[in-house]
Amino acid sequence: YRNICTLGKGNFGKVLLAEDLTTGEQVAIKVVDKRLFKNGDQKQHAQREQSICEEFATELKHKNIVQIYDVISDEECIYVVMEYVQGGELFDRIKQDQKLTEPLARRWFREIVEAVSYIHENGIVHRDLKPENVLIDKKQRVRVCDFGFGKRIRERQEVLSTYCGSPFYAAPEMVTATPYRGPPVDMWSCGVILYAMLTGTLPFQGDDMPQLFRKISHGLYNTPRFISPDAAHLINRLLCKNAKDRITAAACLDHPWL
Ligand code: ATP
Ligand code: MG
Repeated sequence: YRNICTLGKGNFGKVLLAEDLTTGEQVAIKVVDKRLFKNGDQKQHAQREQSICEEFATELKHKNIVQIYDVISDEECIYVVMEYVQGGELFDRIKQDQKLTEPLARRWFREIVEAVSYIHENGIVHRDLKPENVLIDKKQRVRVCDFGFGKRIRERQEVLSTYCGSPFYAAPEMVTATPYRGPPVDMWSCGVILYAMLTGTLPFQGDDMPQLFRKISHGLYNTPRFISPDAAHLINRLLCKNAKDRITAAACLDHPWL
């Protein structure tokens, strides 16, 4: 591969645009520097990202998930070779237009939930869903990326305890450090994404972390009047405080608004 430029930077590595010298095709390569991981937890994080990506490369394929071609690892780094998605992040689209129209939000949200439903059916949770990790391709279709916090759940009822992702998108059970089931945590994040798409703002904000976490744990947010009743109802079913009552990905796809 020949490095062309840097596409993005995150907490644990960077993503490069590169050319595959055998095919001439452009690819994106996420480089995770293992030397930056100091403690056992972080090392485990790197290991997990590598194994989830390997699984995606060999077994999983979905039209709304960034396709992983190959995972290479040496002493220093993990290299995740994937398709290059050209249209940028959903985050920038929302920022650019201030907010999205309901028809566009509906189309993209459906694609996000189709991707989430697919990984849940395959026993994987994402745990870091946010508009920065949703890319838009050349054909204006959604591609979910970044399985850095992804985890395979072995049994349906398996409970998790690791705090993951951005606090603004974190579910009540996560911010209160309650052992949680994975899929509902992703659905909560989907609720925050939908709210952000339709309003251009976040449902939960605070002057500091304790205040933010308090609002999230009480599930308190305002619904602007310009949101249609069906969309408001769906947001309400997603930002449902009790994980047990929160709508699932499959049920979400059957919701009237979608
Ligand atoms: P982590 O949360 O594990 O630290 P990260 O945030 O560092 O991950 P990613 O989210 O995977 O890493 O990638 C960072 C950014 O790089 C993305 O938000 C996106 O802008 C860009 N990017 C990632 N993958 C691609 C891709 N396949 N095509 C184009 N751009 C990409
Ligand atoms: Mg990311």
